[in-house]
Amino acid sequence: MIAVRLRAFSIVGAISLTLACGALAKPASAKSSAAKPTPAKPAVAKPAAAKPNEDWQVIKVGPRDYLSADNIAKFYDLLGNVDATGKTVVLNNGRNQLQLTLDSREAVVNGLRNWLCFPVIAHDGKFLVSRIDLAKTIEPQLRPQMIQGKGKLQTVVLDAGHGGFDKGARSGYGSEKEYALDVARQLRGRLQAQGFKVIMTRENDVFLPLELRARIANQTRDSIFVSIHFNATSNRDATGFEIFSLTPRGAPSTADDALALSFLNMQAGSAVDAQSFELSAAVYHSMLGHIPEFDRGIKRARFAVLRLTKIPAILVEGGFLSETNDSKLVANPAWRGKLAEAISVGIENYRNVTEKKQRPMLAADYRAQDAGGITVLDLAQPPGRLESSPAPEVVPVSNPEPTSNPEP
Ligand SMILES: [Zn+2]
Repeated sequence: MIAVRLRAFSIVGAISLTLACGALAKPASAKSSAAKPTPAKPAVAKPAAAKPNEDWQVIKVGPRDYLSADNIAKFYDLLGNVDATGKTVVLNNGRNQLQLTLDSREAVVNGLRNWLCFPVIAHDGKFLVSRIDLAKTIEPQLRPQMIQGKGKLQTVVLDAGHGGFDKGARSGYGSEKEYALDVARQLRGRLQAQGFKVIMTRENDVFLPLELRARIANQTRDSIFVSIHFNATSNRDATGFEIFSLTPRGAPSTADDALALSFLNMQAGSAVDAQSFELSAAVYHSMLGHIPEFDRGIKRARFAVLRLTKIPAILVEGGFLSETNDSKLVANPAWRGKLAEAISVGIENYRNVTEKKQRPMLAADYRAQDAGGITVLDLAQPPGRLESSPAPEVVPVSNPEPTSNPEP
């Protein structure tokens, strides 16, 4: 990913980010973050002394609830800057970073691409983010330690995509079903060495209905589900990694038009939305932190294996068999071993946030670790102050067409 320095730090244009300076000046420890309500339910679980709507001012635009960027900045102790175009805002405190672009579903959270359910909009001179995106995409990444309902993590259900007559995608070197199985096998050994119990939905080249894969997952306890796939598309230049978890209830998937009405039938979400999303973020940061592939983003879909599993579930797309360079990499068993290792480290990081409230490493942390300069972040510490933080960077928004994905 190419990153460029923010060109201008001044607030320009009609759409400005108006920050409440008083809030940013207060010490980070003045209010216990644990006492704050979750963004999903701003009206409940208030600290006893709090005034109603002290933390979140919900703004209704059309049928949807939104929160302003300045409200988000205040809540998470972030400082905001609008770039020279006036269309992109970067919120940053050296610990968390959020980049939002007007009229776009593409956001950058802690250095990696994320696809919001709804575009960021302008309203009364403010950037607004939908409440569902704040609750389901932004909050789990900025405060992973706040995700509720996580117990122990003992078992990983590995699902090698396709199999038997269903070869999946194909390159000139081989097929998705073989590569997925090989990554799952290599991953199994690594996870077992890390103390996990591993269940494979398939261990051989056999066809397995999607419902059966989900049923195998649902028979396990204290577990997660990780499905391994590789991509292909008619656009032969498309390349890189992407990762999916289930689309939240009432929201469009990444490949859907955000303005289409088809999602208004309120398809069921999942009780483990936040865990699944956090798992996808932890694994994705490790993949891109270890392997220099193109970042296609953290996405949402209602693929059968995600829809039917009741445990935290993700689907990894480990590169494009339709692209020359990706297909050569994927055909190399050693490279697939690297991918398996990166996924295993991401799962380990997810276990650490689940069991020890230890913040998962970000792609930038892995890169720094490789360069010999890792800093271990302690969740018990207050957010870093801006003075000690690096200058925020703006990642160019490319808005690549979401690839029509063949996964059912
Ligand atoms: Zn596949």
